[in-house]
Amino acid sequence: MPRPTDASAALFERARAVTPGGVNSPVRAFNAVGGTPRFIRSAAGAWLTDADGNEYVDLICSWGPMLLGHAHPEVQARVAEAVARGTSYGTPTEPEVELAEEIVARTPVERVRFVSSGTEATMSAIRLARGFTGRDIVVKFAGCYHGHVDSLLASAGSGLATFAVPGTPGVPVSSTELTLVLPYNDRAAVDKVFAEYPDRIACLITEAAPGNMGVVPPEPGFNAFLSETCTRHGALFVSDEVMTGFRASKLGQWGLDGAVEGWRPDLMTFGKVMGGGFPAAAFGGRADVMSRLVPEGPVYQAGTLSGNPIATTAGLATLRLATDEVYDHIGVAADTIKTAVSDALSEAGVAHVVQATGTMFSVFFAEGQVRDFESASRTDASAYAAFFHAMLDAGVYLPPSAYEAWFLSAAHDDRAVQTVLDALPDAARAAAA
Ligand code: PLP
Repeated sequence: MPRPTDASAALFERARAVTPGGVNSPVRAFNAVGGTPRFIRSAAGAWLTDADGNEYVDLICSWGPMLLGHAHPEVQARVAEAVARGTSYGTPTEPEVELAEEIVARTPVERVRFVSSGTEATMSAIRLARGFTGRDIVVKFAGCYHGHVDSLLASAGSGLATFAVPGTPGVPVSSTELTLVLPYNDRAAVDKVFAEYPDRIACLITEAAPGNMGVVPPEPGFNAFLSETCTRHGALFVSDEVMTGFRASKLGQWGLDGAVEGWRPDLMTFGKVMGGGFPAAAFGGRADVMSRLVPEGPVYQAGTLSGNPIATTAGLATLRLATDEVYDHIGVAADTIKTAVSDALSEAGVAHVVQATGTMFSVFFAEGQVRDFESASRTDASAYAAFFHAMLDAGVYLPPSAYEAWFLSAAHDDRAVQTVLDALPDAARAAAA
């Protein structure tokens, strides 16, 4: 049964009068699935409550950050104490040091610098890679999203080793003419560009496991191959763990491959979970590379709210509470939901594939495995829209786009998971219609 949306609809109308499309980040507008975006009034644990009072099991978790669930009492308490001490000083603070120590202890990075968004983290990592190597070309993969950095909002040009073209109006050709865009999971394409530009590639940046075209795991050994190829050619390997960091596993995607295989990225980027629901992100890596940053080195980078004491306090509380049990719990809940989604869609005769890396997963409404952007693009977006709305009407809030990861939290208990399972058969039939 459709739920009342009068209050959300009224807010959306007001929002559209003062904000482009009524939202501050485009996917929230429901353009890909149609209908009225729900304006959320509050959240607790695994549940969201919208402006009309409807409750939903949240499978977005703020697009990843809310690993512990919403309004976690201990995180809330730490944040409240920090707020009482003032919200920003523009000076160094102890929580920044503690959070940096925690990240250095849990990842292969030796030094870390805080920023306020994942976009800033990748933008700064690329600048640093160029400053460190004295080279200019950046290699990325189609379908990997690294935030809205001009040079990374790039689409593949014609032919493999040609330079990219702007991915959106507003990005000048000059911003993407030093970016090369390759198909993901394609070793031959990587070998080819390094052969073609042996002394010009500053860095290769990749999502450690892409989650922004749906979840597309790196094929076994792919990240190790990228790391080794970069090292051989004097380029830096930048692993973007903004989404996967402290999420795919306790040690992020690196915990699933690099830690096991014995290699480490030169630079990494983090965001989402490490900000505990506040605007915080980071980039970090080898000490010799990071020491090229101001004020130690010459590469410029700065930020008024970087390392903000409230954000770093929330991030630190979140990471300290993110124990093995949290990841085990999310893994079990994810497995239950993955199996049930697949069973329901199979029963209804809907072509689909469920792909995962660690505790992160997504459901493609497509035939066969998805290994790159081209195969991800075969997704049946209209079947997903029907599925999405049926789930929403049954009280389950999925990402309003077919190309996104689904996120769970430590607060997704039996009641929340059962609500998802109960909603699936009807939603699968809606997708089949
Ligand atoms: N990198 C990855 C892998 C992301 O998933 C995102 C955002 O979803 C970003 C970078 C950009 O982060 P932000 O939205 O905080 O700018």
